[in-house]
Amino acid sequence: MLELRGINTYYGKIHALRDVSLSVQEGEIIALIGSNGAGKTTTLMSVSGIIPPSSGEILFKGRAIHDSSPEAIVRLGIAHVPEGRRIFPFLTVMENLSLGAFLRKDRQNIKKDLDTVFDLFPILKNRKDQPGGNLSGGEQQMLAISRAFMARPGLLLLDEPSLGLAPLVIKQIFEIITELNTTKGTTLLLVEQNANLALKTAHRAYVIENGCITLTGKGRELLVHDDVRKAYLGL
Ligand code: ATP
Repeated sequence: MLELRGINTYYGKIHALRDVSLSVQEGEIIALIGSNGAGKTTTLMSVSGIIPPSSGEILFKGRAIHDSSPEAIVRLGIAHVPEGRRIFPFLTVMENLSLGAFLRKDRQNIKKDLDTVFDLFPILKNRKDQPGGNLSGGEQQMLAISRAFMARPGLLLLDEPSLGLAPLVIKQIFEIITELNTTKGTTLLLVEQNANLALKTAHRAYVIENGCITLTGKGRELLVHDDVRKAYLGL
C-alpha cells in the first residue's frame, strides 16, 4: 500500500532522514520505533507531504506522491494524526468528527462510522456537544484518532498516540488501534517511543536511528531482539 524508497529529508542543513526505505502492506499495523530525534515524526511528515523529501520516492497504492501537496495526499486516502493530538478545541466533539468526514462522497456510510466511533469510545458520545478543548488529554487523543477514522482513510498515520497519557488510557487506545485494524480493516503506520507496546501491537516494525533504518522484522521478533531490548526496552 505504501512504499518509501531511499527517502532523504532535510531541515535546512539538518539531514533528518537518510535513505529511508520501508513498506506497509494493506491490512498491516507497522510500527516505527526509535529514540528522541531519530526521525520518526519526519518520516510521517514526509509521507503526508508536510515536509517533502528532497530525494527518493514515496508510492501510495503504486502512485508516486512525494511531489504531491498535503491536500492531494489527504484526498488519496492518507490521514495523519499528529503528535500532540491537534483537534479543533473550540469546535464540539461532533463538529470535529464531522470535519473528519468532510471529503467523503459516500454520505450514507458516515452515520454508520459515527456509530462505530461512539461504540469504540462511548465517552465521545457523552461529550458530543462539548468543545473538544474541554476533553482530557486521553479523550482528545480518542477524538483525534476518531476524526481521522471518519475520513475512512486507506492508511492512517499515527504519531505517538501514547504521549503524555496515563497507562490505563494508553492501554485502551492501543486496544482500539488493534480493533480499527482487525474489524475495520484500517492499515496503520504507527510512530511510538513506547517500544514495548508498539512492538506488541504491530505486525512488523522498523527501528530508526539518526535518520537511518537500522533494523526491521516482525513486532514479536523485535521484542526479543538483543539490540532492541537493550536500547529501547531497558532490559
Ligand atoms: P521525537 O520522538 O523526539 O519526536 P523523532 O524521532 O520524531 O523524535 P524528528 O522530530 O523526526 O524525530 O526529528 C529528526 C531530526 O530532525 C532531529 O535531529 C530534529 O532535531 C530535527 N528536526 C525536527 N524538526 C525540525 C525542524 N522543524 N527544524 C529543524 N530541525 C528539525
